[in-house]
Formats: sequence, C-alpha cells, structure tokens
Amino acid sequence: MDDPAVELLRTHPELETVRQATQEPVYVVGGAVRDLLLGRPRADLDLVVVGNAGALAERLGGAEAEYARFGTAKVEVEGHEVDIATARTEAYPEPGALPVVAPAGTIEEDLGRRDFTINAIAIPLAEESHLIDPHGGRADLDQSLLRVLHDRSFEDDPTRAIRAARYAARFGFGLEPGTDALLRKTDLTTVSADRRRAELERLATEESAREGLELLASWGLIDLRKDGLALLGAVDELLENPHWAEFVPRERALIAAALGPPGGEEMLASMWVPRPGEGVELAERRDPVELILARALGANWLDRYLITWRRVKLEIDGDDLIAAGIEQGPAIGRGLRAARLKKLEGEIGGRKEELATALAAALRD
Ligand code: ATP
Repeated sequence: MDDPAVELLRTHPELETVRQATQEPVYVVGGAVRDLLLGRPRADLDLVVVGNAGALAERLGGAEAEYARFGTAKVEVEGHEVDIATARTEAYPEPGALPVVAPAGTIEEDLGRRDFTINAIAIPLAEESHLIDPHGGRADLDQSLLRVLHDRSFEDDPTRAIRAARYAARFGFGLEPGTDALLRKTDLTTVSADRRRAELERLATEESAREGLELLASWGLIDLRKDGLALLGAVDELLENPHWAEFVPRERALIAAALGPPGGEEMLASMWVPRPGEGVELAERRDPVELILARALGANWLDRYLITWRRVKLEIDGDDLIAAGIEQGPAIGRGLRAARLKKLEGEIGGRKEELATALAAALRD
C-alpha cells in the first residue's frame, strides 16, 4: 500500500466530514489503522482528539451526555459508526488495578498506553498524511508479531494476555520472544473476575475462539476443566450446526467447555435415550449450555430434542381451558403439559383430543 492515509480516506469518505469539523489535532488509531494496513475491511473507526473529544462529537451531532459519562463518544457520521476519545495517559498504581487516567498532550503519549505495537499506530487527519508509528508496529505487522510496548505491560493489565490470545488466533500471529516470556509469567488473578470474564467473552465470540482458548491454555494462563480441550473442540464443531448456534450463546458455551464449572452434563450424557416426552421434560429444565455440553459428551438424542421435539406445540392454549370452565391457576399449566407430553408421544392428535387430555389432567388433583 503506497499511502495508507489516502487509502483510509478513500475507504472511509465520512472522515472528510470529520476532518472539516476538527479544530484540534485528530487521529485515526488502534484497530482501524491496523486493519487497514493488514488489508482487512472494517466498519467502525476509532478517533483520538488531542484536546476536547466531547466538543468534536457535539459538532458532529453526538450526544454530550454519553461523552460525560464514559469519556468517549459514539457518533454516526454519514451512517458510519465513529468512536471519539480524548487522548490520555494511564498510570497503574498496582498490578491489575484500574489505571489513573490523565489527558495526554501528544498523540505519542496516548499511543504509549496501548497494548501491542500493532495497535499503537495513528494516522493524523488534518496534517500532511503519514503514519505515526513510534513503536515499530508496521514492522511487526509485516512480520506477523505481537509485541508489548514495555516490560510491565502484562503486570499493569493482565487482561492484555487474553487480548494477545484473541489477536494471535484471529490474525495467526506469533509472539515476539520477549513478549512471549513476559506473557507466560502473567498473573491473571490480579484483575477482578468480571474483567477477566469480559475479555474472555470477547475472545469467545470470535470465529477463531477455539484457537484463542487453546493458546491461553498452552501458555499456562487458564485452568482447563477435565478433558477441556477435547470438549472445546467438540462444542466448537457443534456450533457449526445452525440449530445449535441459534440455541446457545456461543461465548458461554465455549468458555464452559474449556473452563467449566462442570454442571449436570455428564449425568445427562450418561443416560438412556429418552422417549420424546421424557426428553423434553428433562431438557427444558436445563440451561442450553449444559445441553450442548451433554451433546458433545455423547447425548446424541439432544439433536432430536433441538430440531423436532421442542418445536411440537399444542393447537390449544390456556384460554381454551378457561373457556371450558377451568379456573386460572396451576391446573391450566398441568393440563397443557399433560396434553403436550401425549402429543409428543404420538398418543393424541388434533384439537379435540388435546382438549380432552388437558381437561382430564387439569381436573385431576
Ligand atoms: P477489534 O478489532 O477487536 O475491535 P480493537 O483494536 O478495536 O480490535 P478494542 O478492544 O476496541 O480493540 O480497543 C481499541 C484500542 O484500544 C486497541 O487497538 C488498543 O490500542 C487499545 N486498548 C484496548 N484495550 C486495551 C488494554 N487493555 N490495554 C491497552 N490498550 C488497550
């Protein structure tokens, strides 16, 4: 690519509108620059203002209130999403603590707080176009390497180790040797469980989640559950099936497969093959994550539950029972459940039989 900045304006014409609204230095940064240099298409843009991001957001029609709360503003420019933040420095009072944030006087200072060299490149919007790349990010991109900016990076913010797995898996990058050594010493327990979980879930939503989780395990940073890797592989394959993909949240399923905690899935998998009615009763009481894990462990009948059994619906509903004289209350549910079970077992069909079965069960104490 001859001139990345020209390319950026060509692929994101909305930047011209941003440029015209700027009164202070503004830069495209982070993932947008990285993806541009990698030739990967990207929808959203991150901008940094050395000055007042809120004022620029307002000039672009963004809401000031949001900026005041989070220090960054999301605006839509000509239908494109743009995130605008004020340039800042971050100091870590202790390992894993939230950083003390202060405004940065230059874009270089802001780039210096970032996780990897490949994410610490900026392109100025107003000046003569060029790359601002103080940490050699472009060379690392060319060599497919992840490199931290300084030796305390993972100590300051251990979630960067999870980010490393995400980027390494997504781009097929390796770790620069110094970064590799630092990363393996990372103590993920200095950050809160919530922050760890949030970063793991971001990893787990990616297409390459399995590789990312495998990397974290190979670096010794996560404790796998028993047979975690095999289970992760099996669940990842099941999620290629649209029925399962639509039924279970991908990130929760993959994290549970790799890390646990184990639920009732082993028990469910070791069971006999139930009849449709029993199967539905069993499965509907379980979390979908437990079900996909049980399926991965061998409960193949769950495919039938997922695709057919659970979609079996009655032609009648509670109103029909009320119209037939049953009072509001548990009897309605009891009746409908009984009718559904019989329908699942193929013992009844049609409205009339459903109603008769439901009424009989509703009237039984
Ligand atoms: P993606 O393509 O996944 O959206 P991204 O680079 O936009 O990647 P974000 O998590 O949105 O990722 O972060 C935006 C930028 O903020 C990153 O490129 C990086 O420079 C910086 N950043 C985010 N999280 C951290 C962190 N924990 N430590 C240091 N810098 C970070």
